Amino acid sequence: MTALEIELVPCLRDNYAYLVRDAGDGVCAIVDPSEAPPVRAALDSRGWRLTHILNTHHHWDHTGGNAELKEAYGATVVGPEKDRARIPAIDVGVEEGSPFALGSRRARVIEIPAHTRAHIAFAFEDDSAVFTGDTLFAMGCGRLFEGTPEMMWRSLSKLMQLNEYIRVYCGHEYTLANGRFALTLEPGNRDLVSRMREVEKLRAENAPTIPSTIGLEKRTNPFLRVQSDEIRRTLNMRDASEVEVFAEMRARKDVF
Ligand code: ZN
Ligand code: FE
Repeated sequence: MTALEIELVPCLRDNYAYLVRDAGDGVCAIVDPSEAPPVRAALDSRGWRLTHILNTHHHWDHTGGNAELKEAYGATVVGPEKDRARIPAIDVGVEEGSPFALGSRRARVIEIPAHTRAHIAFAFEDDSAVFTGDTLFAMGCGRLFEGTPEMMWRSLSKLMQLNEYIRVYCGHEYTLANGRFALTLEPGNRDLVSRMREVEKLRAENAPTIPSTIGLEKRTNPFLRVQSDEIRRTLNMRDASEVEVFAEMRARKDVF
């Protein structure tokens, strides 16, 4: 079995779509296409043919290319069943526990609501990759548009169950701003400080900071670090619950 190829396709201002291809099976998916033109250009330059479109949630900056790409390639659109009505051109609705296969590759669908009420992740665990949309970002997490802090904390906790070496592919290049916020909470976290040095270098060259890994996120993403003594001291919340600490960080990030 050849390795699953994953290619990043920058879209709009700071969105990432991802081409996911199994050369052996001839299947090729795009995850969260905001718009069609950069995806078509990426396919053309590689001579690849699109077979699937995978959506993590309904927002236009993740589904805006669905209709045009489906029309152009006859690709099958896969998205959260619970949001069928809001996913443009959807063919196949999936839920947690739905078997989903891209050619011979198995993906586990994980329901991670809160940014939107039906947000999902596609976890290709055999291929060490998870697509987290706007729920888990590099050093950050999504805004709570359709859910509570409790709901988001539960969703992030599910993603934290994944193996540490699994690569995290998220929906936006927000890493630098996320890291700056993280440093206000945990300036003494050495992993965070050294990651930020890397991130600053990459962004200065306009290079992507994606993917990270579940392990790196656990060490540097404040939203996964509600147990951190330093974060709790900064927030003056030593004895608060995990959800309370999470909620306070999310509220602060909204106005950061
Ligand atoms: Zn979104
Ligand atoms: Fe988005």
